[in-house]
Amino acid sequence: MLRNARLHRLKPINGLLNIARLHSGHRSQAMPVHHLRSFSADEENLRTLFDEPQSQLKKFESFDINAGFLMVPGLKGPTDLIDFSNKCLEKSHILLKRILTDGAEGKELNKIVKLLDVLSDTLCQAIDLSEFIRTSGVSPAFSRAAEQVYERMFEFMNILNTSEELYQLLLHIKNRPDIWNSLDNEEKMVADILLYDFEKSGVNRGHHTRKQFIELSNRIDNAGRDFVMNAYPEKDSITLPVSQLSGIDPSVQSKLPIKRGYATVPTTGPIAHHIMSTADNADTRRELWLADRKTSDRQVSRLETLLKTRAELAQTLGFQSYGEYQLRDKMAKSPRAVKRFLQNMAKAFRPLAVSELQTLAAATNAPGRIEAWDRDYYLHKMISQSNSRTSNMDLLSSYLSIGTVMVGLSKLFNSLYGIRLVPGSMQQFETWDDSVCRLDVISENDERIGMIYCDLFSNNFKSQGPAHFTIRCSRRILDDPIESDYGSRNPLSLSVSSSGELHQLPTIVLVCGFNKSPTGLTLLSFYETETLFHEMGHAVHSMLGQTNLHNVAGTRSATDFVELPSILMEHLVSAPAVLQSFARHHRTNKPPSLELINAFKARRTEHLANCETYTQIMMAQLDQIFHSECANDPAFDSCSIYFDLQCQMGLYKPVPENRWHTYFTHLFGYGATYYSYLLDRAIASKIYTHLFEKDPLSREAGEKFANEVLKWGGSRDPWECVAGALDSPELSNGDDSAMLEIGSFANSKTVSQV
Ligand SMILES: [Zn+2]
Repeated sequence: MLRNARLHRLKPINGLLNIARLHSGHRSQAMPVHHLRSFSADEENLRTLFDEPQSQLKKFESFDINAGFLMVPGLKGPTDLIDFSNKCLEKSHILLKRILTDGAEGKELNKIVKLLDVLSDTLCQAIDLSEFIRTSGVSPAFSRAAEQVYERMFEFMNILNTSEELYQLLLHIKNRPDIWNSLDNEEKMVADILLYDFEKSGVNRGHHTRKQFIELSNRIDNAGRDFVMNAYPEKDSITLPVSQLSGIDPSVQSKLPIKRGYATVPTTGPIAHHIMSTADNADTRRELWLADRKTSDRQVSRLETLLKTRAELAQTLGFQSYGEYQLRDKMAKSPRAVKRFLQNMAKAFRPLAVSELQTLAAATNAPGRIEAWDRDYYLHKMISQSNSRTSNMDLLSSYLSIGTVMVGLSKLFNSLYGIRLVPGSMQQFETWDDSVCRLDVISENDERIGMIYCDLFSNNFKSQGPAHFTIRCSRRILDDPIESDYGSRNPLSLSVSSSGELHQLPTIVLVCGFNKSPTGLTLLSFYETETLFHEMGHAVHSMLGQTNLHNVAGTRSATDFVELPSILMEHLVSAPAVLQSFARHHRTNKPPSLELINAFKARRTEHLANCETYTQIMMAQLDQIFHSECANDPAFDSCSIYFDLQCQMGLYKPVPENRWHTYFTHLFGYGATYYSYLLDRAIASKIYTHLFEKDPLSREAGEKFANEVLKWGGSRDPWECVAGALDSPELSNGDDSAMLEIGSFANSKTVSQV
């Protein structure tokens, strides 16, 4: 019942040697509208809101009795959150009772799916809200309350997810043609999703299996947390002879404790990174590299416990492997399809990656082949050489003030989809920090279609990278007494369609960790701009994917499909026509020249982009192997599997002591779906070429993408969406050959779009 509340940007960082970091249609009539200004006035307001934070625009309007945090009525502090969750729980219990009673009496069976959807929306409103509050540093007291609510609601959700009564009721509906045929496609889709979720919890396999499932799930959760919390090297420092430290910055060296000619060097962190990038002595780099990759036997066993328990869970439910268990309801459908996709990608990228390393070696006069511990050193050398040729690293940044980028997003959305972003008038208690603001998403008919809260700057409490949080999904409010609580809702969070139907508007929060400039004007790097576009790609999916049922609204779609709209946004922001349409120098107000953009492009490709992608392919492959049948083998040995993979696929000399895999914490969060980002990159690259390359601001292309992909949220088979967007009906079955074709989309363009 709970899907994709939070989405992150999955983005590789510098290479093989590092752990990748986590980077997720109704028409309404106007509510009281405050937005009948001209577009250019809206754009100016948008720019001012972000670039001149002291501006008048953000003054609170405190008149509304429905005021509350993120438009939740009455939510002003931690205790209100508990009250809100109590109300949600109360409504859920009433709903559950009604569903089961109606089901038992055979009453209104054609309404059961709708009611189940309301039930899941009611719970998700409390779960999603507390999920956001507990991880986003709103305040420590709020976070503690959110943690409590989250656990309580989740517990209830788990009871529902393993309820045999609900499962049997849905099955009964599916098997009654008179009822089933009276449901619309969205309702059938949601019923199928819920049925499959029940089956994934072992509901159809009897009491004993269900108990085992709950026990194994708890063990997996504990093992996973334990694994993630302990992902660090066995030793936090090593000693190296000072004579081996030539090349590093003397100011860094002066910070190192030195005893009898030996310096104590940390194995991780910025100093270690600096030494890896600048120490001239290859032995120094090798020793430090190895120390960073040596974890304790305990950490190895934590990972293996996680993987073996997952394998046991899959077997308990009748699957060969955890991969098979996880992939059946994804685009890829099976581990075999993922394997072939990754093999195809690896074949395309290996020669490109090898040639990048050869070019690097030649350009920096490396004495021989570049090894894993040499990579950062020679890369740094090459970047320093080219920095001396072109004076400034990211000249583009002067053109990318945060307000300008927001205007750019609004212009792009307006060109493609006819929607724009307009600063919303905030009420007291609506947000948690002065720098947070609300943007209303406005259609061409001046109707508000959704809300985006932007929390873009870093603070001490934030515990994570950029993310898109769903707070409320779009859905139709039923004409039923059970929905009477909507009377107390903030009217801004609802809309009424021309036929009089009430809808809940999508509300999301975008979180980023940009450094706020003390002068007020924050300039973003191109990478940060790309991140904002990426997250806004999720936001636009939420805004345009407005379905009647919450379970399939916006980003509530398959894990390996959900990154497609956001990766497409990375392609779009990289198109010179798009950049030139909005980027303006903060002093001269001039757009960047094509020459500057092209020089930036050339610089980007120097950063071993193909090696980076190849590394991601290897990581996805490792994730597949670890979640395959081999984890059932009592002799399962993750270290030798990782070593074998290095031998088969690695770009560098394999090292048996290298235990990098025990840092690969995404194995927990992604479990057998780490390939998703690569898959969506391949698809996004093809869709960009097919629809947008000629004119990335084309309304026709935007409408096509919206109609084939965005507007459906998760209510249409992803393969049909892709087949429609690409005008390739042969892909719509999503069979092995479709997966192979996607693999063949992957080429170097997938990586360096700029
Ligand atoms: Zn994302």
